[in-house]
Parts: sequence; C-alpha cells; structure tokens
Amino acid sequence: MTDALPPLREVIAAHGLSAKKSLGQNFLFDLNLTRRIARAAGPLEGTTVYEVGPGPGGLTRALLAEGAAKVIAVERDERCIPALEEIAGAYPGRLEILRGDALTLDERTLFKDEPVRVAANLPYNVGTALLVKWLTAADWPPFWKSLTLMFQREVAERIVAKPDSEHYGRLSVLAQWRTTAKILFDVSRSAFVPPPSVTSSIVRLEPLAEPVAPANLRDLEKVTQAAFGQRRKMLRQSLKPLLGEDAIRAAGIDPTARAENLSVADFAALARAIGR
Ligand code: SAM
Repeated sequence: MTDALPPLREVIAAHGLSAKKSLGQNFLFDLNLTRRIARAAGPLEGTTVYEVGPGPGGLTRALLAEGAAKVIAVERDERCIPALEEIAGAYPGRLEILRGDALTLDERTLFKDEPVRVAANLPYNVGTALLVKWLTAADWPPFWKSLTLMFQREVAERIVAKPDSEHYGRLSVLAQWRTTAKILFDVSRSAFVPPPSVTSSIVRLEPLAEPVAPANLRDLEKVTQAAFGQRRKMLRQSLKPLLGEDAIRAAGIDPTARAENLSVADFAALARAIGR
C-alpha cells in the first residue's frame, strides 16, 4: 500500500469499530484485495468515485491509492467517521465524507456534471435494493458510468443469468435490459472480518446507451413480476391478470412458454403489449 496510514486492524482497534451485525458489517482488511477491487472499478485516474458504505475505509484507501481524483463516500455508521476523516487528512481535498443512508439519498443532487464510477462492498439486502434503485432510475443514461459491487455469489449469478437457467429471474431481466453485467471474480469468506456465511463475487455493470428493446419500465416490472412470481406456470396462466393468450401470441411469444424461457427482448415485447 502506498499510503502512510496504519494497517486496518489498528484503525479498527483504535476507533473501537467492532463489526455490527445489524448494519451488515463484514470488513475487508487486506489492502491488496481492496486494491484489486479498486482496479476492477476503474480506470480511476481523473474520475470521481461514489463509494457507499466505506466502513473503516479499506476500499476507500485503495480507490484513492489507485488514482481516483475524488471519492465521495456515504456511511450511515457514525462510529466510522473519525477513521474516514484520517484518510481524508492523508489525501487532502480528495475524500468527501457524507453521513447518511444511501437508500434515501438523491444522487442527482450530488452528481450533476460528469458521470461517476460507483464502488461498494455492502450488506446483501442493501446492495440489492441500491442496485434496483440505480437500475430503475427515470434518467437514462444514469448518473453512473459503471457500478462495481460486491454481492453474495448467488445474487451475482442472478444478475448475470441467461434464459433457460436456474438463476434467471426478475433481477436478470432488469439488469440486462439496459446494462451489460459481468461477474469479475469471487472473494472468499475468509477475506472478511467477521466471515459471512457464503462466498461473495464482484459484479461490474455498465449502462447501455439504449435498452436492448424499447419498453416502459413500469410495464416491464409488472410483466416480470407476474411471470416470475409463478415461474413454473405457462405464461397464459401467470400473465392472465395482465394479458390474454391472443395478446401474448400477438407480441410474438408462445403462451405455453414459461418465464425462464423468454429473452430480455421478449419481456420488453410483453411490456409493450400491456402498454397498448
Ligand atoms: N467498505 C467496507 C469494507 O469493505 O471493509 C465496509 C463493508 S461493510 C460490508 C458495509 C458498510 O456499509 C458498513 O460500514 C455499514 O455501516 C454501511 N452501510 C450499511 N447500510 C448502509 C446504507 N444504507 N447507507 C450507507 N452505508 C451503509
């Protein structure tokens, strides 16, 4: 590590930052690993990074050391703020710390000009909720030019899953409708303190300029919810409250198919059909 800050174990001891289960805290101590994640979030040279949940700052330090011009970090655990302020002191003018809940924050008030790169190691439920918030934003292209996020391996697989596979579902369609999504690498349980119960993966998403196929987002959400809500049923059954069999056929879809057999473009076609 090229910074002059103390090892993270010492930072955590000095600030009494015992991991809180209620905040989903599993910290990364290995600065070689956080640098690998920071590089995966790049290129960072000259960019602004939005980091959610910096905690004691392992990833924050790596983002700065890897050349981010500025990191804007939002953390809801007040106990972490003094440790983050020490990092801000070591990188003058390059780290802005915000106290608060990223779920309720309106990013448009923070980022007005050039798009930012987002990097985060978040608790599973917060990470998924934020991803959905960022994928369902009214503005497109969005405020971010990439998202590099840690998820449980199983959630990562759902994000990138293709049709006709076990993990393919609403999150896959929502993500792949207007982004490209890739799993970059796995992070073992033992990298975290305390270790979580399952393996994690780093996922990177980039926005497409245009969706894979046109659709109204709300209609797309309705149709994926109905179809995957009863994923074992044929579409003529699961979509009954939204579309009749003839309308499904008119959209170019076989009414005896099941949700997992449809491509993202097929879901967009069904969304257009309910919007008609
Ligand atoms: N990034 C650090 C690391 O890699 O060691 C901490 C990771 S820990 C899994 C998640 C962090 O997100 C915690 O510091 C927690 O307090 C914070 N957090 C949880 N929910 C949050 C929210 N809604 N908004 C902002 N921060 C949140």
